Amino acid sequence: MKKTTFIQDENAIFLKGNIHSHSCNSDGSLTPKEMKEAYKHHGYDFLAVTDHNFYSDTRKLSEYNFTMVQGFELYANASNDHDIHVNFLWADSIDGIKPNSKVALPERSGKVSIPFCYDLRKKGAYVMLNHPHWSKLKTPEIEDNNPYDAIEIINYATEWLERTGDGTVFWTEMLHRGLKFWNGGDDDNHNHQDLDSMYSDSFGGFTVVKARNRSAEAIIEAMKCGSFYTSEGPSIYDFYVEGNEVHVLCSPCERIFVCGEFRCFQRKFGRHLTEYVTKLVGKEHMVRCEVMDARGRSAWSNPIYLDEEYYSKGSKEND
Ligand SMILES: [Zn+2]
Ligand SMILES: [Zn+2]
Repeated sequence: MKKTTFIQDENAIFLKGNIHSHSCNSDGSLTPKEMKEAYKHHGYDFLAVTDHNFYSDTRKLSEYNFTMVQGFELYANASNDHDIHVNFLWADSIDGIKPNSKVALPERSGKVSIPFCYDLRKKGAYVMLNHPHWSKLKTPEIEDNNPYDAIEIINYATEWLERTGDGTVFWTEMLHRGLKFWNGGDDDNHNHQDLDSMYSDSFGGFTVVKARNRSAEAIIEAMKCGSFYTSEGPSIYDFYVEGNEVHVLCSPCERIFVCGEFRCFQRKFGRHLTEYVTKLVGKEHMVRCEVMDARGRSAWSNPIYLDEEYYSKGSKEND
């Protein structure tokens, strides 16, 4: 039987989006409408405006070929030396979150924010832990309190500003500890520079969902079941396990990695590679792939969990 995180529906389509961004309703420079126009003209299919502790209602900006996903970014102090920032995304509305208003937060405390995250997740929000490296988080504190669907592994703005936007090591360590997390990639753009400036923080990291249709509901459904990949450039057209064979199909790349745990890495190097078929080593609890193009830009699949028992310890509160 074929195992994959991609939705198996013959009508499903790939949609490119930015799931983390800031408008002038918090500390960004552009209005939500200007941001929508910019991303639409750069070939994106959807955008989430996720202002700091403020819900910018963008539902009316959705149109036939461009979808606005709803959300905000929680900004909470975990302690004096690090922060917790969390993205909440949803399709239409979430109980208790008022449109175009500040979000009523318990307190600016990381510990208090954890029940808040569980609560919104239960109400239907998709919950992503943002930029763990920038926030100076340590993996054990997340292992103890894990209300998240995903970890942001590519944050283009913090990578530009401080070289702290790469969360891949944090993410893979959590996977190796037996915790289930999808990945996530986006711009976290604030647009203090012009959009066409070489210092623009837009159009660097993105998420491509495979969804049943273009609606915000279908995009959130795809994200919750891991039917997407994160990218800086390349495309992953398919990634699946059939029997003990692993299959990767991608846009032309120079390196394709199939990754499990310790010493379960396999690779294929060459020019214009678009496919890699290999066999499982046999010790993997999960398997995922990463592809890298000639410019050194990567795309990451989500993990396919092969050993549900190993990953059961990472189950979330009341799941
Ligand atoms: Zn943040
Ligand atoms: Zn942000």
